[in-house]
Amino acid sequence: MQPDTCEEQPAPVLIEAAALPLLFDALHGRGYTVVGPTVRDGAIVVAELDSAAELPYGVGVDTDAGRYRLRDRPDRAAFGHSAGPQSWKTVLHPARAPLWSADRSPDGTVVVREPVERHRYALLGVRPCDLAAIGVLDRVLTGGRHTDPVYAGRRDGNLIIAVECTEPGATCFCTSMGTGPHAGPGFDLAMTELTDGGDHRFLVRAGTPAGAEILTALPGRPADDATIAHASGAVADAATRMGRTMPAEGLPDLLAASRESPHWDDVASRCLTCGNCTMVCPTCFCTTTEDVTDLTGDHAERWRVWDSCFDLDFSYLHGGSVRTSGQARYRQWISHKLGTWHEQFGSSGCVGCGRCIAWCPTGIDITQEVAALSLLQLAADEEPTP
Ligand code: SF4
Ligand code: SF4
Repeated sequence: MQPDTCEEQPAPVLIEAAALPLLFDALHGRGYTVVGPTVRDGAIVVAELDSAAELPYGVGVDTDAGRYRLRDRPDRAAFGHSAGPQSWKTVLHPARAPLWSADRSPDGTVVVREPVERHRYALLGVRPCDLAAIGVLDRVLTGGRHTDPVYAGRRDGNLIIAVECTEPGATCFCTSMGTGPHAGPGFDLAMTELTDGGDHRFLVRAGTPAGAEILTALPGRPADDATIAHASGAVADAATRMGRTMPAEGLPDLLAASRESPHWDDVASRCLTCGNCTMVCPTCFCTTTEDVTDLTGDHAERWRVWDSCFDLDFSYLHGGSVRTSGQARYRQWISHKLGTWHEQFGSSGCVGCGRCIAWCPTGIDITQEVAALSLLQLAADEEPTP
C-alpha cells in the first residue's frame, strides 16, 4: 500500500507556520478529512481537526516508565511532542468497527447491510516511528491473501504528512529499531518543524506527486542550503537523544532461547495483565467480534473490537484458555512482538515508539525486560556443561 513516489526528489521549500491554515484549506478543498494531534483530557490525542487552531501549539510532553505529562513549550511548536496514548491505528484500525447489521421485517425477510467507508483521510503530523507502524499494519492487514476490509477502506486514498522528529521522549528508541528519527518511505509530504530564533517555520519536501500537488497550494519559498543542513542536523541530533535503546539484532533468537527463563515470573509479579501495552501499541492488531441484538430480536449487529493477548479469553480454545498465567501472556506478547513477528511478517513488530513503557501502569519497560533476558541468557551460555 505504498503510494507512488516522486521520480525526482523535488527541492524542499520553507513554509511559515502562519500558513498552516492554508494547508488545512488545501486538504479540505481536495476532500480530505484531516486527522492530527490535539490536546484532550490531559494528553495529546489523534482526532479529526477542523482547523489548524486545534493543533497543540506550545504543548510538549514529559514521559517515563508509567508516566506521561504535558508541559508548556515557549517556542509554540505545533508538533513538539513525542508519542501520545493514541497512534494512527485508532483511525485506520479503530477500536470498534461495525461489520454488518441485519433487520428482519414483519414478513420475515432479513436485510443485511455492510457499512461503507467514505472518508479520505489526510494524516497530519505522523512521526517517523508511526509511519513505520503504518507500514507494518499495511503488511499485516492488507499484505496477505485476505485483506482486512475495514483497514483497507480507511487506508485507501490516505495522504500522509509526516513530521520528522527533533524532540524524542525519554521512552523513545526508534533509532534502535531503524524507524526514525528521519522519516522513511511512505509519506506524501515530510515536514521538519523549526522554531529557533523565534522564527516558526517548516521545511517541507514532497515524497509523492499527491504531496507535490498539495505543496503548490502553499506559499512556500525555496530553502537555502544552510536551512536544509540545519533541519537535517536537528533530526540527526534527535537520534543521539533517545531515552531508551534496544539491541539491533538477535532478538528472535534471544526470545526463543528464553522460553523457560525465570525472568517471566519476575515480570508477572509486576504485570497487571491489563492489556494497556497492546492498546497503545501502534502495531498490535488483534480483534474479536461482538454480536448484539435489540430486545425485539428483529435487529442484530456484529462489531469488531480490539482484543489483547493479555486477556484470558484471548487464548480460549475448547475447554479453557491456553495461556492462564501472567507469565505466559507477557511472554506471548513480547515474543511475538520482537521475535516471531519477523517470521510471520518480515520485520519486527516494534517500531520503538515507547508508548507501552509510558502507559504501563506499573512501568514495565520492554527495553529493560529484553536487557534482563539478555543478561540471564549470557549467564546461561557461560555455565559449564555438565
Ligand atoms: S506490561 Fe504493563 S501495560 Fe502491559 S499488561 Fe502488564 S501491566 Fe498492563
Ligand atoms: S512494543 Fe511498545 S515501543 Fe514497540 S511499537 Fe509497541 S508500543 Fe511502541
